Amino acid sequence: AKENGSAQYRFYDAASDQTSLEQVMLERDLENAIANGQLRLLYQPKIDIRSRRTVGVEALVRWQHPLLGTIPPLKFIPLAEKSGMIVPIEQWVLRTACMQVKQWELEGSEVVPVAVNISQIHLMKPDIYQSIIDLLQELDFPPSLLELEITESAMMHNEEHVIRILENLKQVGVSVSMDDFGTGYSSLSYLQSLPIGCLKIDRSFIHKMATDSDSRAIAEMIISMAKQLGLDIVAEGVETEEQVAMLRHLECYNAQGYFYSKPVPPERALQQMTDIPAS
Ligand code: C2E
Ligand code: CA
Ligand code: CA
Ligand code: CA
Repeated sequence: AKENGSAQYRFYDAASDQTSLEQVMLERDLENAIANGQLRLLYQPKIDIRSRRTVGVEALVRWQHPLLGTIPPLKFIPLAEKSGMIVPIEQWVLRTACMQVKQWELEGSEVVPVAVNISQIHLMKPDIYQSIIDLLQELDFPPSLLELEITESAMMHNEEHVIRILENLKQVGVSVSMDDFGTGYSSLSYLQSLPIGCLKIDRSFIHKMATDSDSRAIAEMIISMAKQLGLDIVAEGVETEEQVAMLRHLECYNAQGYFYSKPVPPERALQQMTDIPAS
């Protein structure tokens, strides 16, 4: 039994060594990922379900690792947050996304706002507002075409700082959405005090909506509350026609999800949704 135990122990140890080796490799390589040109952005359209037109896009980062292939953000964003690389990464994302909109415009596409995800660590930087202003000026980019997505939980830290930054951004015309709404615990009064333009309903509600009447009731409440507060609403993670029908019924007309499009490279992001069955 003892031998068996130690064999199991060795086996287990080897397995965990391998993961940590990968972690170490990722952490080391992430530092040079920008300089090595290994980051790229995909774009997922936000769709008006009535017209099926693209009303905006969200930029989502990918890391093309030379040995490990494409690394999804859920695997390296946490590492980047730990090492502080998240700030230069998101600065790269902001710049690249804004340049992409200008490129689309040059190519004659109809321009829509681009949304970029901003982490709590980045949001807390004292100079975040100024660095965004500097970027917009350098690129001569219209602030109304830039949107920032900030999670509900990130907004709940250091409320005074967050409110001041969001107010400044709003003044110059950059809009802010609350991302993953419904997964945190913000009170309604707090929501009212935040200068945000849009709520993105987390995909967990959208998924459960069809089968679970509680989730449907929550989604319904979120939508009517957002309307009363004068906020736009986007439903995230819309995958089925049934969900689209429910959203239509609830008068939530903006949706993002695989039903319409996965995140795609820039050359496909603004294609119209003509090959999708009407619902
Ligand atoms: P998110 O901001 O909630 O972005 C939406 C995620 O849901 C994306 O995953 C997208 O591919 C996925 N998604 C969209 N539609 C559907 C659907 O119909 N079904 C399902 N199951 N999933 C759908 P992705 O690209 O893997 O990104 C995951 C998360 O990584 C993002 O969640 C965001 O929190 C984070 N992320 C991505 N880029 C950045 C960035 O530049 N900065 C920061 N801080 N986070 C980022
Ligand atoms: Ca987002
Ligand atoms: Ca989200
Ligand atoms: Ca999310």
